[in-house]
Amino acid sequence: ETLDKGLEKSKESFFGKLSKAVAGKSKVDDDVLDNLEEVLVASDVGVTTTLKVIDRIEARVAKDKYVGTDELNKILREEIAGLLSETNIGNETDFVIPDIPKKEGVKVPYVLMVVGVNGVGKTTTIGKLASQFKKKGLKVVLGAADTFRAAAIDQLQVWADRTDVPIVRQEMGSDPASVAFDSLKSAVAQNADVVIIDTAGRLHNKVNLMNELTKIKRVMQKVVDNSPHDVLLVLDGSTGQNAFEQAKQFTKATEVTSLAVTKLDGTAKGGVVIGISDQFKIPVKYIGVGEGIDDLQVFNKVEFVDSFFK
Ligand code: GDP
Repeated sequence: ETLDKGLEKSKESFFGKLSKAVAGKSKVDDDVLDNLEEVLVASDVGVTTTLKVIDRIEARVAKDKYVGTDELNKILREEIAGLLSETNIGNETDFVIPDIPKKEGVKVPYVLMVVGVNGVGKTTTIGKLASQFKKKGLKVVLGAADTFRAAAIDQLQVWADRTDVPIVRQEMGSDPASVAFDSLKSAVAQNADVVIIDTAGRLHNKVNLMNELTKIKRVMQKVVDNSPHDVLLVLDGSTGQNAFEQAKQFTKATEVTSLAVTKLDGTAKGGVVIGISDQFKIPVKYIGVGEGIDDLQVFNKVEFVDSFFK
C-alpha cells in the first residue's frame, strides 16, 4: 500500500508527469513539446512562463536539429534555474535580516510588513519567522495591524504566546495604522531588532487596500525612516492561478519586495514559484512546508530545482 502511495505521488510530481510526457519518445518533437506544455501548465507554472520555456526549447531544437528526450531533462533544469536566478539570490539557508544603521546612536528595528489575503498562511508564516529570528538571538516584536477580524488578532496572539514574543494589539476595528505606529514605537523602546507587522488582506476593494497600506507605511515612517524595509507578500502555493492573481493585485496596491510561498508540502504544484518569480521579478524569500513552527525554509533555488526533478 505504501508503495502504491509512493508511486501515486511520483506520478503526480513534475518529474513523474514529465517522464510520462516523453514516454516512448527518443527525440523532442512537436508531440513532446505539446505534452511538456501541458505538464508545465498542470504544474502551475502559468501560461506566460510555460510558453516562454516552450519557445526557448523549440529554438534549441531548431538549432541543434536533434535533441534527445534524455537531454530534455537537463535543458529544462537549466531553463527553470534560469527563470529563478533572475530574482532569487542564491542558495542561502539561513534566516538573516540586514543591519539597519543606528539613528543618532539609537538602534533602529528592521521593519517587516506582511501582506496577503486571508487563509494563505500569513499568521502562521509570521509566527514561524518570529521563532526563527528569535532562535538567532534577535529580539522580535509583533504588531497585530489586521484589525478587521478578531480571529486574526487572536491567532497572532497564539503565535506570540507560542514563541514568547511581545505583541502590540488593539481591539478589533481599531485603525491598523495606529497599531503599526504603536508597534514600531514599542519596538524602538524595547530595543528590538525586528518588528513584524500583520496587515489585513481584503482584496475585494483594491482602492481601500491601497489606501490602507499607504497609510500604514506613512505612519510607520514617522517612527522609523524608510520603513517598512521589506514588504512580504504571502501566497498559498497550492492555489495555482489564484496565487498569480493575488500577486498581480498586491503589486498594484503596494511595492512588494519579497514573497513567501506556503503550503508547498502536500502539493506537487510548486510550479507557482517558477511562474511567479519569472513574471513578477520579486524574490521568493521563504517557503512554507507544513503547519509546524519549524516548517518554514529560506528559499534555496538550488534545492528547489533539485526537488522539482525528484
Ligand atoms: P492567514 O489567514 O493567512 O493568517 O492564515 P493562517 O496562518 O491562519 O493559516 C491558514 C491555514 O493554513 C492554517 O490551518 C495553517 O496551519 C495552514 N498553513 C499555513 N502555512 C502552511 C504550510 O506551509 N503548509 C501547510 N500544510 N499548512 C499551512
